[in-house]
Amino acid sequence: MADCLFYKMVHGEIKPDTVFENDRILAFRDINPQAPVHVLIIPKRHIPTLAELDDGQLAGELMLAAKDVAEQEGLATDGYRTVINCKQHGGQDVYHLHLHVIGGRRMCWPPG
Ligand code: AMP
Repeated sequence: MADCLFYKMVHGEIKPDTVFENDRILAFRDINPQAPVHVLIIPKRHIPTLAELDDGQLAGELMLAAKDVAEQEGLATDGYRTVINCKQHGGQDVYHLHLHVIGGRRMCWPPG
């Protein structure tokens, strides 16, 4: 856990480009954005992947934070994409649960 990049952000060892924060959630800009807007929403509690998420209230808070951040970033009218990559086949690189909010351009489907 101590080696986790996002855990270090929660605990102030690394400073993210924060766009939203409360006592349970942190949202910050992705360092390698895949669109004009790319924000990551994370729980402050260390949960490695979606497979370990056991708190329905927190799950709802993460979704609502994604919606609020999208509105704050001006994405609400044209829309946006939310993504949670889970483990190897999902393409997860950082093992601290995070929800991507991506927008500002039209997205493709299906994902590669
Ligand atoms: P995932 O592949 O779903 O685990 O996504 C991890 C995301 O974290 C990628 O989109 C990375 O660009 C992003 N990322 C990695 N390091 C940082 C960092 N220091 N600050 C912000 N985002 C980061």
